[in-house]
Amino acid sequence: MASSKNAYIGVDVGGTKILGILTNGIDDTIIEQIKEPTPKENPEEVGPAILSVVRQLVSLAETHGLVVKGVGAGVPGLVDSSGVLRYGPNVQGVINLDITSMIRAEFEIPAVAENDGTLAALVEHRIGAAQGHDHALLITQGTGIAGGLIVNGKVVKGANGFAGEPGHALIDPHGPMCACKQQGCWEAVSSGAGLANIARLVAEEGKADRILEIAGGNIEEIRGEHVAQAGEEGDAGAAEVFDRFAYWVAVGLSNLSALLDPSVIVLGGGLASISDQFIDKVRERLPARLIGADYRPQIQVVPAKFRANAGALGGAIRARDYVINGK
Ligand SMILES: [Zn+2]
Repeated sequence: MASSKNAYIGVDVGGTKILGILTNGIDDTIIEQIKEPTPKENPEEVGPAILSVVRQLVSLAETHGLVVKGVGAGVPGLVDSSGVLRYGPNVQGVINLDITSMIRAEFEIPAVAENDGTLAALVEHRIGAAQGHDHALLITQGTGIAGGLIVNGKVVKGANGFAGEPGHALIDPHGPMCACKQQGCWEAVSSGAGLANIARLVAEEGKADRILEIAGGNIEEIRGEHVAQAGEEGDAGAAEVFDRFAYWVAVGLSNLSALLDPSVIVLGGGLASISDQFIDKVRERLPARLIGADYRPQIQVVPAKFRANAGALGGAIRARDYVINGK
């Protein structure tokens, strides 16, 4: 399959944009990359938008003299083992979209669809920050939290394909409300939205005047980037927010570590760009939450190698695996 004429397509379907890439299928070099906005109004337009991205990349492959051998799509939400997006709250509430059948029907090429966090874990394990680790945990902190698990060198998918969704595990029964309408999810204190939630709590205590000022004086308007900006100015209130944030990130990671015993934890996603301000604090706090920290090797906590294109690149790699192995 490693012919110089073969190419693979990876598509990452996000809440705001659909990113598609074309790879050469030999060393995962990205040959073409296109982006389209995710349809905002009607969930029924999401499927056609995915097909449009694939169609453009198939045409681009032809201009390079390449033949597309497979398509892999990454989607946030519950994607079952046959490639049906059962429930996608972050893509306009799409329900029961059969992504793989849709792609196979139009292009007559093998297709596979999986959770975006699972594909990001695959790419970090294969060619990224978790390379060489048989037991790894990938956590993507963006607006919410996505996750992916590597156990015994393999991506864990669970009974239905729904494994690795730690964002909605309960972590603080008295914590902030989550986007999923439950109270105290890990995501509500450890994602981009979580950073803003914590900043609002600190502002209510009167300890985040600079953040509040940047947010225009309205506590409800505080967002993660306001905290990041105050942090860059060396603001004490932002330091307090990052300290509490790192605590909750470390608590969640220690719970997952108690279950999985990873040798590395990879942190990716939009928050990674401000991770310098909390990743060291997470590294400090994690051992204190682990049983027998003095008697076990330290778990590495590292930033992801692949950021914006991790899901799409994982999709292309997954497509190639699927074509070669038939599963
Ligand atoms: Zn939740």
